[in-house]
Amino acid sequence: MIVFGSRMYGRKHLVKGWGYCEACATYGKHISYTGRKWGHLYFIPLIPLGSRMRVMKQCKSCSNGVHIPEKDVPTTLNELRQRTDRALAALIAGQKEFDDNGTMMPCSASLVGAIELLYCMSAQDYVRLVLAALEEKGLTYTYHLVRGEAVEFEGKPGEAAGAYKLAADCEPTETLPLMALGAVHLNGGDLEDARAVYEKALELSDDKFGVLRVLLKVYGALKDHAKLAETYEACFTLVPELAQDKKSVKAYKKACKKAGKQPALK
Ligand SMILES: [Zn+2]
Repeated sequence: MIVFGSRMYGRKHLVKGWGYCEACATYGKHISYTGRKWGHLYFIPLIPLGSRMRVMKQCKSCSNGVHIPEKDVPTTLNELRQRTDRALAALIAGQKEFDDNGTMMPCSASLVGAIELLYCMSAQDYVRLVLAALEEKGLTYTYHLVRGEAVEFEGKPGEAAGAYKLAADCEPTETLPLMALGAVHLNGGDLEDARAVYEKALELSDDKFGVLRVLLKVYGALKDHAKLAETYEACFTLVPELAQDKKSVKAYKKACKKAGKQPALK
């Protein structure tokens, strides 16, 4: 058998982390690194295929990841840092939103959203600086949120859950810490805890559909058919196009059948 194929060689700047993979919908380990794809024969690299790339969040289960050319990494990282700096400066000035090139964006959510990408581009030191600034300025709510995200990346879900709980205590009407906490429970298979947290988030959230979509997953896993059917109905009311989606309608009817109720859709 001739073994010919292509794979990444010359891996550098390796970062190991934990996170959720969109491609295979699993939570687990991933790696980020810089390398170049080569055509190989018996795993001996023979032909370079394209330029060097930064591979980010390459999932251990399905091998999917985000690829960007290595030459673009400094610009991407610089833009992300500048954006994070602006969010941080606005927060320190007592604002909840910052001007992101003409669009007003929420400071805390933007900071939290940048952490994973910063880690994947080896900017751990910068994440530490952000955390230190938040702590020093007494921005406790955002500090706990960002810290939760950072320790989650480092593979410490228990510590992350603790941080998100502290954030929720600081701002009991905010949904962001609850959504983050719910995800930790869901990823860890603690379905009842996930349910309690997401149901509370649903009460508070302005984006009901966003929470209901996650609750579909939770009720499905819990085999709570009645709640699942009810949640599909709420989703269909909020987003009528979803009632045209065959997969959703099928799942809804199945839940109705198992719950022993008549579907509201034909
Ligand atoms: Zn995956």
